[in-house]
Amino acid sequence: MGAASPVVLEVIEGAGHAAFLVCWAGHANAELLGHTARVAGGPSFLAVSPATAQATRVLPANHTPVACTIAERAEIIVGLAADRPGFDADTARRAGIPVVVAGAQGALGAAPGIAEFAVDLVQAAGLGQLALVTEIVLDDGPGPHGLDDLTRQRALVRVTGQEIIAERLRTGALALRGPEVVLPTDHGVLLATGYRDPHSGSEHLVLRGPATERAGRPVVHVHRECPTGDLFGSLNCSCRSELDAALADIAGSGSGIVVYLRGRPARPLHHGPRLDDRQAHLVAFMLQDLSVHRIQLHRDDTRQRAALCGRGIPC
Ligand SMILES: [Zn+2]
Repeated sequence: MGAASPVVLEVIEGAGHAAFLVCWAGHANAELLGHTARVAGGPSFLAVSPATAQATRVLPANHTPVACTIAERAEIIVGLAADRPGFDADTARRAGIPVVVAGAQGALGAAPGIAEFAVDLVQAAGLGQLALVTEIVLDDGPGPHGLDDLTRQRALVRVTGQEIIAERLRTGALALRGPEVVLPTDHGVLLATGYRDPHSGSEHLVLRGPATERAGRPVVHVHRECPTGDLFGSLNCSCRSELDAALADIAGSGSGIVVYLRGRPARPLHHGPRLDDRQAHLVAFMLQDLSVHRIQLHRDDTRQRAALCGRGIPC
């Protein structure tokens, strides 16, 4: 969306499928507003990141329509996008356009909706954090056929909420590296590096044997925190024994890696599927951050290989 051409954004919200025209608010002008209104046909609002909302003192405002020309409305929206002094919530109200503040995590938040996707979309295009969003209303509903026709006729780019999530996972810094500490254990001496996951707030750990750097293709075991198994040695699962075996092998040979993923399991006594998409990305990110680019999986764990394959780390 480098040029002032809106993008069609499709979002699954609850059971419904909805589509919107999204553009950066800074591109607003009378022509664009008229165009999006004609093409989309539905109501418009501004989606803003919390940081921009704070900077521009834009707060969610009830829709209070006021008489104003489309050119005046465009000027107000552009003023907000450019963070011009004097443009604030009252200005947005005078423009007769509601403002929705997106969640701080954007599309990676717990329940992303159109506001989060729209802000991430304009931000990914390097255009700022204020999006002009207009709901697309088609005669036969926002089904795939009507959208196909619309995007073809108008030569519009089309993205989905899922694609925005995938892009954020692919490009973002998924975790922030903390200091490395030397960790004497029952099994031997290990190097421990902490990673803070800004998405969940969890602190993950990467444990390495001291000679791992010299191994061209170190052995890796990915362990998901299991409070009942890890802390209390529960025999309901094999978590503790798998972790102990991996730590013993690594400490014994001096080389290898245990990635310890923390985070609250939804049900503390049971495990879900092994690694979800985000966890697999996270593991690949932390390994690459530690200059580990090729691995072999501890005890040839095929489920982990399936999750980690194709994340840029051959295994
Ligand atoms: Zn367990």
